[in-house]
Amino acid sequence: MTQRIYNFSAGPAVMPVEVLEEAKANMLSLGETGIGVMEHSHRGKPFVAVAEEAEANCRKLAGISDDFHVLFLQGGASTQFFQVPMNFLGKDQTADYLVTGSWSKKALKEARLFGKTNVVCSSEDRNFCYIPKEAKYSDNPAYVHFTSNNTIFGTQFATEPEGPAGAPLICDASSDIFSRPLDLNKYGMIYAGAQKNLGPSGLTLVIVRKDLVEKGPESLPSMMQYRIHAANDSMYNTPPTFGIFAMGLVFKWIEKNGGLSGIAEKNAEKAQILYDYLDGSSLFKPTADKDSRSKMNVCFVTGNEETDAKFIAAAKAEGFDGLKGHRSVGGMRASIYNAFPKQGVVDLVAFMKDFESKQG
Ligand SMILES: *Cc1c(COP(=O)(O)O)cnc(C)c1O
Repeated sequence: MTQRIYNFSAGPAVMPVEVLEEAKANMLSLGETGIGVMEHSHRGKPFVAVAEEAEANCRKLAGISDDFHVLFLQGGASTQFFQVPMNFLGKDQTADYLVTGSWSKKALKEARLFGKTNVVCSSEDRNFCYIPKEAKYSDNPAYVHFTSNNTIFGTQFATEPEGPAGAPLICDASSDIFSRPLDLNKYGMIYAGAQKNLGPSGLTLVIVRKDLVEKGPESLPSMMQYRIHAANDSMYNTPPTFGIFAMGLVFKWIEKNGGLSGIAEKNAEKAQILYDYLDGSSLFKPTADKDSRSKMNVCFVTGNEETDAKFIAAAKAEGFDGLKGHRSVGGMRASIYNAFPKQGVVDLVAFMKDFESKQG
């Protein structure tokens, strides 16, 4: 088999090798069933057991109480951008949005189709390189929406924003879900496309408070109502069965690696190695403000586009793939999600040092 290389892709992103191996083992036959995991009916006992185990593992990992539904949906985080306001934003209500990057801007744009919105804060004035400290909430928002990790700009909320008392906090955690401990008591809902920290694309994890779900209008199309997905254990229609299987394996893998606090320690260590080097480098500069840095996506530039391009090409030739930054920031981005190995960060830093020493 071709050797696996270091994959710094922002998403779909690297998955744990153990998970891929176990998925491979079940591809031709799920357990002893003689039918591959992708070939099972979602209504049959073997797959229902897979889905139940995935949900149970998710609940155990994040300490999710019975006050919440755990849903496996489709349409990516981008569908949640409109499904959230469809369900929770009444025509005469206002939803508060913290705008800290392209994804939160897109979420805001969709909300505007359904009701009034208030931009609580924005860091667009400096190309989203920081998490704002000031926030102006509206009086009685239907909910407060924020993006915990800004995948493109490499910034991350250190803690949850403190919205007005009683307003449900709704979070797009697509790129940092289960990368650190989570106090769900603070949330009304968290959602994440799976393809960064949880598994294959095509599956969206939604953790949502049951009382909120009941507030959603019953006049919506069935597929848009959280209550219908909840009442049918995410099997109102055919769910992304393979994705649910793989995500269940990822939950188990995180648990085996110390759970959320264990994985958080590893993530902090990986990010520190890279930022420490960047802070001392005279060639590479991190783009995000120090107090807003993401532990998942580390963005940096040389300040010279030609040098950036030269670095990315040289890195690729050495087996460091996916380091090209998003076009709205330029430069480089190293995405080092849960499954990215520490050794890859250590090796990248060694490569960067060597590249730096060979420059002018
Ligand atoms: C990748 C990403 C999205 C988009 O997710 P899709 O599943 O492609 O819709 C949304 N929000 C954040 C924070 C992301 O990183």
